[in-house]
Amino acid sequence: MNKKAYLVGGGIGSMAAAAFMIRDGKMRGSDITILEAAAVPGGSLDGCGNPEQGYSMRGGRMLTFDNYECTWDLFKSIPSLTAKNKSVLDETIEFNELYRSASKARLVDRWRGKVPVTSMGFSMEDRAELLKLSNADEDMLGSSNITDWLSPPFFETAFWYMWSTTFAFQPWHSAVEFKRYLHRFMLEFTRIETLGGVKRTIFNQYDSLVRPLHDWLAAEGVCFAMDCTVTDFGHEMVDDMFVVTAIRCRRQGMAEVIEVRQGDLVFFQNGSMTDASSLGSMTSAPGPLSKIDSGGWKLWEKLALGRPEFGNPAVFNSCIAQSSWESFTVTLKDPAFFRSMKDFSGNQAGTGGLVTFKDSSWLLSVVLPHQPHFPGQPEDVQVFWDMPCFRTGWEILSPSPWLIATARKSFASCAGTCASTLVRSLKRFAFLAACPTSPACSCRAHTATGRCQSREIPKTWLLSASSLKLQTMSFSPSSILCGLRRWRSTSCFASTARCLPLRRTTSRRWSCLKP
Ligand SMILES: Cc1cc2nc3c(=O)[nH]c(=O)nc-3n(C[C@H](O)[C@H](O)[C@H](O)COP(=O)(O)OP(=O)(O)OC[C@H]3O[C@@H](n4cnc5c(N)ncnc54)[C@H](O)[C@@H]3O)c2cc1C
Repeated sequence: MNKKAYLVGGGIGSMAAAAFMIRDGKMRGSDITILEAAAVPGGSLDGCGNPEQGYSMRGGRMLTFDNYECTWDLFKSIPSLTAKNKSVLDETIEFNELYRSASKARLVDRWRGKVPVTSMGFSMEDRAELLKLSNADEDMLGSSNITDWLSPPFFETAFWYMWSTTFAFQPWHSAVEFKRYLHRFMLEFTRIETLGGVKRTIFNQYDSLVRPLHDWLAAEGVCFAMDCTVTDFGHEMVDDMFVVTAIRCRRQGMAEVIEVRQGDLVFFQNGSMTDASSLGSMTSAPGPLSKIDSGGWKLWEKLALGRPEFGNPAVFNSCIAQSSWESFTVTLKDPAFFRSMKDFSGNQAGTGGLVTFKDSSWLLSVVLPHQPHFPGQPEDVQVFWDMPCFRTGWEILSPSPWLIATARKSFASCAGTCASTLVRSLKRFAFLAACPTSPACSCRAHTATGRCQSREIPKTWLLSASSLKLQTMSFSPSSILCGLRRWRSTSCFASTARCLPLRRTTSRRWSCLKP
């Protein structure tokens, strides 16, 4: 009988692993099952909605062609959904030749001034500290925070504002993770002020990456088991190794058990960036969820209980205030805001990347992508995405002579009203005499737990029927896209060499769930 592979989670990580197993590992698609708790695949690379109720994305990701080697290596084999005889990689290259990122307003101050950013704003001390952190080995960095290595003036440099908003870092985040980003994205140092290296997909990444990949995998016979939450792994210990013998899950509310045979492969991708996220609206704040509401955290906690080799989820989820974040997507039916932002910034939508309001209490950044951002998006509808880095503070972009919006609460607690206030503020910023309660706006906000306040780096585990040795496949929940190389190079097939005999289980065989 053929070897089977089971992947817990239906994000890009699992889908990429499945594609590599088929393309490079010559595994049959029908032997691969992806178990996903949500109703749609894609995980954190989401994108949905319509012009009436509003569009929504939890993230707006920035790709580069210099990194993400495995992502592009994968997508060169995945046919485009928009252009016949082209791959997703081809269409993305062509698109980025037409719309080159070259931000002309990366940082904006409280006086509506474009902050000069050609210099990073470093003092000699800042440089020395950054170099020291960048060169420190990980043992030395240990569980320290960024603030343990960099002094307060560093956090006022143009570099910090640009780097932290580009890669979503907070001063209290892990020094190890910060160092890894410095190394991984060293190239961006030369163009961080223009975001010149940033590449975008034609539409949002759900439509441009997830859908084509999903369709290709489905055509190869991969089974997508949706609405299926994995709750536990049956296992036995063989020579001190954790060997999975069964996968326990709830599919559409019903308990099921999948038997895992000797040599089968089980992947678990832990620590999703969007675990326990919730959706708000123009009038209501996103619900305050916690790790209890997340299948991902529960499973990891169960696995790690009494087994330090599976890491320590508590360093990621024990302080939601440090690890959660919000973003919101705005849907407009009025081109005036986009026009005014273009006049102000000098950037046509899709070429500017992030515009960060550095004096805003929320350290707000807005991204105006190329329009349409969703297939079928009407011409008179525009969609943009925003991310406040901080969620507390007494006002938005105030004190300032040009913005009077005040929202005397944290973003999370008042996202509905804040969102509308924010849209008004941004319109005002763009010199619009905006209608204060324009019915054309619709905002959504998310609260997610699990961003790396970490003092430890999470791992992706391959729990094959034989091995947990192959466990360090990617290093961060926020960098799985960058980490796809690891998925591949630490290929699952290596695990067969370590296969050990398994006791057969008597639980019900469950080879491929019907989608
Ligand atoms: C706002 C934002 C901005 C980002 N920017 C960038 C960027 O610029 N560059 C970049 O490389 N990355 C970026 N990322 C990160 C990138 O989106 C993620 O790293 C990537 O999408 C993660 O893919 P994944 O498959 O590992 O996990 P996810 O996409 O998080 O998927 C995990 C999936 O597992 C499912 N799941 C969890 N537990 C269970 C269970 N027990 N049973 C069944 N299913 C389960 C979840 O429902 C989810 O669908 C960003 C993310 C966000 C949110």
